[in-house]
Amino acid sequence: MDTPRFAALLDMLREAEAVAWESVHGSDERTLRLHKLTADALRAAERLRAGEPCAGPECGRTVAYSGVGRPARYCSKRCRDRAAYRAARQRESERS
Ligand SMILES: [Zn+2]
Repeated sequence: MDTPRFAALLDMLREAEAVAWESVHGSDERTLRLHKLTADALRAAERLRAGEPCAGPECGRTVAYSGVGRPARYCSKRCRDRAAYRAARQRESERS
């Protein structure tokens, strides 16, 4: 996902993470936790921009989020079909 609004969100998270990091003095646990949470949010947003790995079997591609609706799990119809085929075969073998 690479829209101006998403880039602005990333900037805000980066700034928040930097300020949280500057606030970490000694071992104040709440500040450490605040920094960890902010850094986690930043990493999650960065992953969203880079794209999640395709859920398809043996597929190394990433699926970029379009910014609309539920994120796609597969990079292509082919990967989705392969995953459905595998799941069906798995169910088959569990039954017998
Ligand atoms: Zn794929």
